[in-house]
This record gives sequence, structure tokens and C-alpha cells, in this order.
Amino acid sequence: MIRAPSPWEPVIGLEVHVQLRTETKIFCRCPHRFGAAPNTQVCEVCLGYPGALPVLNRAAVDQAVLLSVALDAEVRDRSTFARKSYFYPDSPKGYQISQHDRPLAERGALPLARHGRAVPIERLHLEEDAAKLSRSPDPAEKQDRLDFNRSGIPLVEIVSAPALRSPAEAHDYLQTLHRLLRYTGTSDANMEEGSLRCDANVSIRPKGSADLGTRTEIKNLNSFRHVARALHYEIERHIRVVEGGGRIASETRAWDGATGTTRRLRPKEGPGDYRYFPDPDLPPVRVDRERIRRARASLPELPWRRRERLAATFGLSREDALTLTSKRELADYFEATVAFAAAPAGDVANWIRGDVLRELKDRGHRIDRAPTPEAMAQLVDLVHDGTVSSIAGKRLLGKMWGRSEAPRRLAAEMGLLQVRDGTRLEAWARGALEGQAPQIALYRGGKDGLLGYFVGRGMGLSGGKADPKALARLLRSILDGENT
Ligand code: ADP
Ligand code: MG
Ligand code: ZN
Repeated sequence: MIRAPSPWEPVIGLEVHVQLRTETKIFCRCPHRFGAAPNTQVCEVCLGYPGALPVLNRAAVDQAVLLSVALDAEVRDRSTFARKSYFYPDSPKGYQISQHDRPLAERGALPLARHGRAVPIERLHLEEDAAKLSRSPDPAEKQDRLDFNRSGIPLVEIVSAPALRSPAEAHDYLQTLHRLLRYTGTSDANMEEGSLRCDANVSIRPKGSADLGTRTEIKNLNSFRHVARALHYEIERHIRVVEGGGRIASETRAWDGATGTTRRLRPKEGPGDYRYFPDPDLPPVRVDRERIRRARASLPELPWRRRERLAATFGLSREDALTLTSKRELADYFEATVAFAAAPAGDVANWIRGDVLRELKDRGHRIDRAPTPEAMAQLVDLVHDGTVSSIAGKRLLGKMWGRSEAPRRLAAEMGLLQVRDGTRLEAWARGALEGQAPQIALYRGGKDGLLGYFVGRGMGLSGGKADPKALARLLRSILDGENT
């Protein structure tokens, strides 16, 4: 069935909160290591005692500046902290220290990895994380739990323009951003551990319209896949409401992964509700040109640039280059292996993208546990020059894990070296033709395809060790050249 194209266009904007990977919290010197026992990494400041004074952690500013520069945003030379007032147990001060009318950086862009266009970023600002509020796992215990280890962890909030056009683009945006955060080392960016959190804003408008419709904001999204699913659901809901003659209420909604639906939490608060005002305890954040220059100079090659370079230098497809640059360490591994290998870079790319990544996944290992780039290069070369077959190469790779022997030694030990020795090949070739008079007659009568049949028999006799190309050559010369 062909469906009429929808007259509606979705508009999506994402707010991403990222915990920065600093040693200490943003306004005190408490450490913030994930997984510590609850309420063990706390002090008067991050517990919100009255009168305790915040002192800004310079490392948090440096990381946020690094990220801003990576996103090509304009960093203000003077940004300010503001108090965002709200009442909730996760913040005993009654306000969150954030940045409001003078954020750290504005007007950046993120080049989407898959959709080939850049999404404008409105702003990046610093703020403190709140305590973690959770239900007791024991339903009989009718109490909530508060963990202040999270309170005061430095966050940078990255706010996209309402410029994403589909759930797939939103997914792409998050993956691209995730990759950037890991490349720059600014965050673990782990959604499961809460070091990357995302709110999704969505509205619809008639196609071709430049106005923005009323948006809803979806919270409680805990994986990229859920973001896409929630947006999909919410877009359909907007269309249903509007086409049914109703109006979208400006509200905050919660995603329920179990039912695959969103439900209303509360009406959307506006900036007025937060009573923003400058925090009198914190001086403005000054970022001079020298600091921005240093940040620029310390940036690694950004993932999207690296992808372009690998594709261009080694003739890889954009998709392969994307996979190989999904992690900085993987891209390093690929480039190191190429440097050691005599075989073409394309062969190396195929091995790493396919077999190596599969082994990593099966073993639950990271790339630093894989065979060294030097050993990997030898393996690729052994297969490339026909010393071992590609099937044997795969078995060899499995054995190379956690072993230090050179792949060639290991291949010999495992009996995987292909035999090209004339006498042994000849014995297998003769054996393959034994008792095959009718087939030989057919072959000689013009049924060329039977050569493969003979090669197969010979390979079987050799237990898979014969070099199939050499064996085929030999069989052909026997069959074409003499009477058997
Ligand atoms: P708030 O904190 O009130 O949600 P922010 O300015 O922090 O406001 O974030 C607003 C987010 O919502 C941005 O990502 C922006 O792109 C997005 N947004 C704003 N208006 C719309 C709209 N009409 N439709 C979809 N997204 C929108
Ligand atoms: Mg919001
Ligand atoms: Zn503290």
C-alpha cells in the first residue's frame, strides 16, 4: 500500500547533559567516582549547607571550553552563573547553580555522521548536577533514597537548535556527539551510568511552514534507541491530536519504555518559573583568547575529520571509515596495523571491521586486548600472500588472542600453512582423479566446470591443507596435458 506523504513536518531539539570527567566536583573538592557507596563523596558545599561557599573548578571550565571549541562554538570571554530556583529533594539549596543569560558558549554546530549535514547548536553551559533520587529496590520499604555523590558533579548542557527533522536524525546526533565526547576524553558519556542524559523536545508543523509549533519535552530517556522510539511515538501523538481538532499542551512528559508510550508529567515550566538571578557567591567565568587557543591546540583529530582522512587516504567506503573511527583507539589500531602490513589497507580494514570486531564483541574485550597491530598485520599478510587460506586465517585469529607467538609460528603449529610443495600436491591431485574416468571424460569433452569438483576432492584428501590455487593449476595441467 502506498501512503500519501504526511503533510506534517516534525521539529526536534535535544538538550544533552554531560558529566565532565574531572577529578573533583564543580564547586568543591569532593571526588566523583562512579559506583562509590552512596553519600561517601560529599561535603558541606555539595550537601548544600547554608553558608557553604562554592569555588569553581578550573578543570571543569577547561573541559567545557575544549568541547565548545570542538563544536566550533563561540566562547564568551565572560560568562556568569545564575541560580535556577526550584523545590525538590534532590537539591536542598532550593536552587541549582547554572548559567542562564550569559552561557559559556553559543552558536556551534555538530556535523551528523550519517545524515551528512551539520546541526546548529544554540548554546553550551556549565551547571552542577543534582543528587540522585531513587526508589528503594524493596517495595515494602516505602522510602525514597538520596545519593549526594552525584550532587555537584560538573555538567555541561549542550542545547541543539530545533533543527532535527526525524527520530533517525536525533539518533545520529546523539551518536555523533557521543563519539566526540569519547574522542576528546571530556566525558565517559555512558547513558546507563547517567553520565550522558538527554531530554527531547518535539513539535510538528505543516510542511513548508517556518513557524514553530507548540512543543512537548520528553524526559526519562535512557538509551539512544529509546530517544528515537519516544520521538516516533510523540510525533504520531501530536499528529493524532492536531488532526483530531485538538491542541498540543506545552508540557513535560515521561517516556515509559515498557509500554512504548509517553505520559504527561507536568505543565512545561517557563524561564519565569525559575526566578533566575546572578549567583552572588561566584565571580564571572573569564576565558581569555590564550585559553581558547590552548584548547584548540590540544584537540585531537576530531572523529568526522579522521573519518574523511581515512576514507580518502586508504580508499575506504564512508561506511567502513565510520565503523573504524567509531572509537579513537580503534582508529589508532587500524592505522598502526596498516603501517605494519604489506597487504593493501583495504584488506586490513576488512579484517578489523569484520573478524576483529566480532571477536571483541564475543569476548567482551576492548581493543587493547586484541593481538598487537604488528601481529595483526602479519596475519593479514599471511592470508594475502596465500600462505594460509582465509578460513584458516580466521581460526588463526581466534588462537592469537592472548598469545605472543608470531602468527606464522602459530599457523605452523596448528598445521594451517597451505602446502605448495610439488610432490605432496601431486599425490593429492592424482588421488583426486583416481576412479573418476567418467568425469574425466566429461571434462575433456568440454565440461570445464568439473575442475572445481576435482579440486574439491583433492582439498578433501589434503585435509584442507593444499593451496587451492596451486592444486587447481596442477590438476588442469594433468587433465589437459596427458592421458591418465
Ligand atoms: P528549556 O530548558 O525550557 O527546555 P532550553 O532552551 O534549555 O529550554 O531548551 C529548549 C530546547 O527545545 C532546545 O533544544 C530547542 O531546540 C528545543 N525547542 C524549542 N522550541 C521547540 C519547538 N517548537 N519544537 C521542537 N523543539 C523546540
Ligand atoms: Mg528543557
Ligand atoms: Zn563536596
